Amino acid sequence: MNTRLHELLGRERARYAEQHPRSASAFKNAKHLFGRTPMTWMAKQAGGFPLYLATARGARVTDLDGHTFIDLCLGDTGAMAGHSPAPVVEAVQHRLKDLGGATAMLPTEDAAWVGEELTRRFALPQWSLALTATDANRWAIRLARAITGRPKILVNSYCYHGSVDESLIVVGPDGTAEIREGNVGAPVDTRVTSRVAEYNDLEGLAAELAHGDVAAVLMEPALTNIGIVLPEAGYLEGVRRLTREHGVLLINDETHTFSAGPGGATRAWGLEPDVVTIGKAIGGGVPVGAYGLSAEVSERIEARTDLDLIDMGGVGGTLAGNALSVAATRATLEHVLTDEAFEKMTGLGKYLAEGTRNAIKSQPWSVSQVGARAEFRFADPAPRTGGESHAAENAELDDYLHVYAANRGILLTPFHNMALVCPDTTRADVDAHLQVLDAAVAELA
Ligand code: PMP
Repeated sequence: MNTRLHELLGRERARYAEQHPRSASAFKNAKHLFGRTPMTWMAKQAGGFPLYLATARGARVTDLDGHTFIDLCLGDTGAMAGHSPAPVVEAVQHRLKDLGGATAMLPTEDAAWVGEELTRRFALPQWSLALTATDANRWAIRLARAITGRPKILVNSYCYHGSVDESLIVVGPDGTAEIREGNVGAPVDTRVTSRVAEYNDLEGLAAELAHGDVAAVLMEPALTNIGIVLPEAGYLEGVRRLTREHGVLLINDETHTFSAGPGGATRAWGLEPDVVTIGKAIGGGVPVGAYGLSAEVSERIEARTDLDLIDMGGVGGTLAGNALSVAATRATLEHVLTDEAFEKMTGLGKYLAEGTRNAIKSQPWSVSQVGARAEFRFADPAPRTGGESHAAENAELDDYLHVYAANRGILLTPFHNMALVCPDTTRADVDAHLQVLDAAVAELA
């Protein structure tokens, strides 16, 4: 253990506790919430207990104790449009208050607008809505299995696609597939349903696909949930070539890489997936997910008249496509996360990445950027696979940097060292974050 780091973390945790008596007491009193939080992951807080949300607007969050933060977590991308953007508030109010009817099992015209706009952005012509990115992934997987008649899904080691059973698999130390550590109540050994390859490893991917039992590769164009791992030259083209050669569908999960631009990494990097899945940010804070299908995929599904796509066939969700989510999504795409907004956010993301490089230059760390998102990792050069990135984890160092930032008005995602900007984030906000990061790193010396 690093004694200096340990002492610093202790000092920062004490300060955090002192500054947040109301959050501490709210946490203590939530006796009838499992893990004292509405969802167990909310307990993952560097300070020992979560900050309680009081209010939020644009790039700012205010906690129960009255501290206002520059929010670079942005709900881990759910609030990439900024908190409560005016057009979304207006659309939600209009739907709920003026028109009435949040969910009626009836489509609204906004949905067709959303489908058309997602088509413009991602160049896939057919869209279906869900409530979360996890569900979009689950349904995309089912459809892929149905039309290929193959049982397995291939993912990258240390990926994250939500609580999708098939994705909880890693490449183990001996190079063979293992169930991901901590997998809660796996229905079957993940190796029955899945195959796994390291990101950036085309040889490994080719070997796995050669078995002929893979329906789809489900991947993020860049890994973003084990730090950011960027594609090496030729990798994504290689994935597309191999998947085509083996008759395997390619599903791009754009939930996080949407930060690359208005059409995510798919458009920004000229990718040609068969299916795109997305969620979080497109609803401007209101739950929504979506998946887009190529013409060929949608035709293959439609040709399968034996599939029950209407009732109990396993693709559903009573609240999917509800009027409220769809109104919020339309407002977000039409007025908030626009092409112009992305241009500004990407510029600021670059500034953030460069500034971060400068702030951490005394350390053997590296910085990676995907548009509006930048992240540093405790390894230099930057890890090229999920496995390498996993090996570079340091929980105590993460906690120290997070709680140090929180104590000085900067909110980061509780997981790794991601910082994300929204349309309301300013250069001054980024400067303030960089100054705090610089000071936190200096104390480590
Ligand atoms: N896909 C990716 C790439 C994600 O990062 C996440 C969540 N972090 C999800 C899917 C799942 O999103 P949700 O939890 O909103 O369903």
